[in-house]
Amino acid sequence: MRPHGKLEYGGQAALRRTCVGCRVRTVSSELLRLVVVEGVIVPDLRRRLQGRGASLHPTLSCLELAERRRAFSRAFRVAESLDLSRLRGHLEEQQAERIG
Ligand SMILES: [Zn+2]
Repeated sequence: MRPHGKLEYGGQAALRRTCVGCRVRTVSSELLRLVVVEGVIVPDLRRRLQGRGASLHPTLSCLELAERRRAFSRAFRVAESLDLSRLRGHLEEQQAERIG
């Protein structure tokens, strides 16, 4: 998949981030920002939470890729495994909405 023309030139350069799942680099607005709160990965929907963040496409497939590669521990620089249930629940809800 190739990133396509959502970047704005001239104005403020669009921020680019790498998805921790599929490793595709894209504009940050297409990715879900994640932070860790007490060992639990939570989606930072308003992009307001403090601390180290990671970015993920809001899809279950990217979540699974990241999980398999232990990308979250690396992104958040923690040794222990993180609780993904809240993030998974959020993505499942979104997916259900898209399917209808
Ligand atoms: Zn991805």
